[in-house]
Amino acid sequence: MIVRRSPFLISRVDAGSSSAFLVHSDVVNWVLLQEGTDITLIDGGYPGQASDVVESIRHIGGRPEDIRGALLTHAHVDHIGGLATLQEQYGFDVFMDPVEVSHARREHLQQAGPGDIVPLAYQPRVLRWLAKVMPLGVLSRKGIAEAKPFPDPLDLPGRPVPVAAHGHTDGHSAYLIADGEVLVSGDALVSGHPISTITGPQCISDAFQHDVATARQTVESFTTFDATTLFPGHGPRADGAVADAARRALEAS
Ligand SMILES: [Zn+2]
Repeated sequence: MIVRRSPFLISRVDAGSSSAFLVHSDVVNWVLLQEGTDITLIDGGYPGQASDVVESIRHIGGRPEDIRGALLTHAHVDHIGGLATLQEQYGFDVFMDPVEVSHARREHLQQAGPGDIVPLAYQPRVLRWLAKVMPLGVLSRKGIAEAKPFPDPLDLPGRPVPVAAHGHTDGHSAYLIADGEVLVSGDALVSGHPISTITGPQCISDAFQHDVATARQTVESFTTFDATTLFPGHGPRADGAVADAARRALEAS
């Protein structure tokens, strides 16, 4: 008998009439906000994870046709890939920080390339990570031609509130959700990464950061936040004051 390992873990935070779900896979995370039957999707995994995103939506009792709009933290392939496929299929709008729009349209690319990765490839954990992400489409350069800046007001299920979190890419955005209780931090602040030796809150490896100094300033800004749960772009959910997680990340990395 073949037992297929579940490709993700889902955890949930309820807030009033809506629920927020972190979908955590071993390579990257995405977030679902559900209000009634309406869904907001934040990020969408690698190109090869589009079907996993659909499966995660069915898991919470929804349908991909119920996606009312999507948000992007940043246009790296592991966050935009599955989203680009689903956007084509279901036709919803994908909003992001105005600075990130040209990146998502692939008018330019701010992403670690072979020159950043090859020097690390002697490490077994980096090779294991590459073996996992190559079949998921890590080399894809596909963007979203119709990427859009945040409208005013941003009226999406679950009432996500964008927070500028530049540095990892020039227009990286985080989101406060669940009435401000949860910070969706994207890659500005993570709780693990397949190529990291650190466990717990951390800044992502410099090899993946576009602007390391600005990225650290963003994490410093998180130390003033009141949110009590972190939904990171990589690594498991972290409960406890996000401000403390941000301070620990600055010390750890
Ligand atoms: Zn990234």
